[in-house]
Amino acid sequence: MTERWVYSFDEMRDAKRDAGNDWEAVRALLGGKGANLADMSALGIPVPPGFTITTKACIEYQALGEHIPEGLWEQVEDALTRVAAVTGRTFAEPSNPLLVAVRSGAQFSMPGMMDTVLNVGMNDHIVDGMIENTGDARFVLDSFRRLLQMFGTVVLGVPSEEFEKVLSSARNEAGTDNELDEAVLRSLTTSFKSLIDASASQPFPTDPTSQLHDAVEAVFRSWHSRRAYDYRQASGIDHNLGTAVNIVAMVFGNAGPASGTGVVMSRDGTTGESAIEGDYLMNAQGEDVVAGSRPTKPIADLVSEVPECALELFATARLLENHYRDMQDIEFTIENGRLWILQTRSGKRTAQAAVKIAVDLANEGLITRDEALLRVSPDQIDTLMHPQFTAQDLASKPVFARGLNVSPGAAVGIAVFNPDLTQQWSSQGHHTILVRPETRPEDVHGMLSADGILTATGGRTSHAALVARQFGKPAITGADIEIDLLARTVTSEGTTIHEGEWLSLDGATGTVYQGKLATTAAEVGNDALSTLLAWADQRRVLKVRANADDSLEADRARKFGAEGVGLCRTEHMFFDSDRLPIVQRMILATSEAEQRAAIEELLPIQRQDFIGLLQAMDGLPVVIRLLDPPLHEFLPSRSELNRQISELERQLPEADLNQKTTDLTDLTNTRTLLARVETLSESNPMLGLRGVRLGLKLPHLTHMQVQAVVEAAAEVARDGGNPRPEIMVPLVGHHNELAQQRAMIHATITETETRLGTNVPVRIGTMIEVPRAALTCEQIVEHADFLSFGTNDLTQTTFAISRDDAESAFLADYLDTGILDKNPFSTIDASGVGRLMRIAMRDAQKTAPNIEVGICGEHGGDPESIKFCHQTGFSYVSCSSYRVPTARLAAAHAALEGNPTPRNTTSLSAIGTS
Ligand code: ADP
Ligand code: MG
Ligand code: MG
Repeated sequence: MTERWVYSFDEMRDAKRDAGNDWEAVRALLGGKGANLADMSALGIPVPPGFTITTKACIEYQALGEHIPEGLWEQVEDALTRVAAVTGRTFAEPSNPLLVAVRSGAQFSMPGMMDTVLNVGMNDHIVDGMIENTGDARFVLDSFRRLLQMFGTVVLGVPSEEFEKVLSSARNEAGTDNELDEAVLRSLTTSFKSLIDASASQPFPTDPTSQLHDAVEAVFRSWHSRRAYDYRQASGIDHNLGTAVNIVAMVFGNAGPASGTGVVMSRDGTTGESAIEGDYLMNAQGEDVVAGSRPTKPIADLVSEVPECALELFATARLLENHYRDMQDIEFTIENGRLWILQTRSGKRTAQAAVKIAVDLANEGLITRDEALLRVSPDQIDTLMHPQFTAQDLASKPVFARGLNVSPGAAVGIAVFNPDLTQQWSSQGHHTILVRPETRPEDVHGMLSADGILTATGGRTSHAALVARQFGKPAITGADIEIDLLARTVTSEGTTIHEGEWLSLDGATGTVYQGKLATTAAEVGNDALSTLLAWADQRRVLKVRANADDSLEADRARKFGAEGVGLCRTEHMFFDSDRLPIVQRMILATSEAEQRAAIEELLPIQRQDFIGLLQAMDGLPVVIRLLDPPLHEFLPSRSELNRQISELERQLPEADLNQKTTDLTDLTNTRTLLARVETLSESNPMLGLRGVRLGLKLPHLTHMQVQAVVEAAAEVARDGGNPRPEIMVPLVGHHNELAQQRAMIHATITETETRLGTNVPVRIGTMIEVPRAALTCEQIVEHADFLSFGTNDLTQTTFAISRDDAESAFLADYLDTGILDKNPFSTIDASGVGRLMRIAMRDAQKTAPNIEVGICGEHGGDPESIKFCHQTGFSYVSCSSYRVPTARLAAAHAALEGNPTPRNTTSLSAIGTS
């Protein structure tokens, strides 16, 4: 017996049996459209009769080198005969012909990506018979011209514009689509036929069966069309699944004034509100509604037009939503006052709508809270945490350029072409968009102070993209723009924007708008999002902390649900323009006294920083990391100093006497500075004097930082607060480093507390960010009250890859050519870096079974890495404040995945009684 390739819509029972009674397997076999059509027929919903050719047939067709598998046409013919019997019509029979739609439909919905041909089964002869039979020549000829048009483009490959050209000139003469009269339509069919004869390699087949066969093969082939491929690529759909083909008896929305066609969504796909939304057109067919050739009407109007159909449609939408337990996107057609449902699927929705719908469905009892959590992806939360543009503005402002949507969110600001100027203008309160050909690590200050980032080159893993995502900056890279850095302009398609003029970036779509669009700020208020996140909190095992360097960020993080600060990078406090000169004095000091003086100056500033943080996170742990980066990061670069020197030297001969004196002083100072910078320069700063080594080498600095922590805690406690400071030592490789540093820290704590007469417990822990530390955790934990994986450095040191260099040189290639399938700086490399982490965890627990272990690298906000942390048994993840809500949901997903709650299966009988 040959394989079964065909299932009629009324053979759901067989399909279920053959798919092992599993609904997902039925969808895999029949495609989503076919499975739901059969399902709806069984529910008694008015679906035109039809059948589905399985996805297996498509896969087999491809495997045979585009040949129809054995037995397929016979099975199609049998099924078609049954459809004919139900409709009382006969395929290819002129007086009362059965016409069919040949429709694609894969397992996962790919709206509009593959092809559909309507009105299959017509030719001149049949047209005459139909006109005789119906007495409606306009309707018959309209159907025929649509067949010629769709068959011509989909099957015969004639560019659709060719048909559109002919059509629009006919329309121009006659007014709108459905007003084309019989004569115009007749001449259209003639023009379409000659168009096909002229442009296609093959004539239009007049034999209905050939039409059917050709259309089926065209649908099979459309699985491999460019746009279908791109869509699958972008949505992570497997390229080997194939599409099913649905052959459905035609119902006619173009049969007259009591006919029409349209689309409804059972809820609003933009806001998620529980209100039916949709569009329709009377006397129209197929894609007219989507194509926009005629203005559509809002679905509410249908009630006055065909009241009974409208009410039946709304009731059906509700029924389908209950049945599938999700918002539905439904295609319908009304033929002479009779409603037909042609398709239903879970509707696409914005992130905002996804959250609202999931929460509402759970509150309505249609799904469980756990299901609601799983209905929203962490990435959708991420999108919501960025400011959004208002829909009205998006529609009204001109598009300036397009690029890659690498970091979501809305950003509005004035164009600035230089990172220093960006920082300057931002600090003066301006909103800025940093526009660069590409960005480099040295541009980061400008990127951080900008509201958004726009680059002309660079892909998804470019420096700009990664940095932007890391800091939640909306960004568009690789845009179709030309930048003139000298003229300070950016040009696209003939429009030029000068520095200081407004640009708006929609990082979610990669669209750049000219002008200033309105935005709404991200917040987790008293809304569906906060409800969903509260449900997530009940499920998750991992705690979520934030990386926050100041009280503002800590405040925000706490509002977003952070349960403490997992990392405060004290160096960020040193970069502020009022502190940097002091820090530089400390670094460049030539005597110990000079150095101590500078450090003394930093103490009150640092104390104030910590007070703010501890207050913002009152009652919650705040992990403060001692100074980590190599010192040269605080100094001007050698090339910059050399540039200044040659500039001064160049000016010197031309300057007047007064000027000459100042210039000479400047020159001497700059040369001295250069000499100091040169002595401090290291050939491998990343592996040089930094981290714990710095803390050991500059004991006064360590002392000052610890003293500031203890004094801050004392002051907060005195004011009635509950400070929980923790001190973290960076970049430890050997437990003796930590032992020594810990002794210094401990001594300062004791000394300060004795002096102040206070006693706020301060825990001391370390980062694990060097392979040696990970491998010697048994010893390291003897000196640590807690461990925190610094996965950025751990990834760099494990791969022996410097991230900044990799991103500008070869990381993109590695990802393109598949050497790496993911960027290890975004998602933990589970088999390498992750293995070290598991070993570290296991060994640490040997010595200290209850040791608290967390992660504070950028990976702490990445859903996949969060899953890893959950599985490895960490206590918490720490991520940037904006990612805290994302992490809360991701942690809940991780917990649910290990422990799924039973789901109500979508059974056919489920709806029968409701
Ligand atoms: P897509 O997957 O692109 O939505 P469909 O197969 O759903 O393609 O077909 C597109 C449109 O063609 C439908 O929205 C509907 O308006 C029309 N259509 C499909 N099948 C029929 C049919 N049997 N009778 C009338 N119109 C149909
Ligand atoms: Mg459709
Ligand atoms: Mg580090």
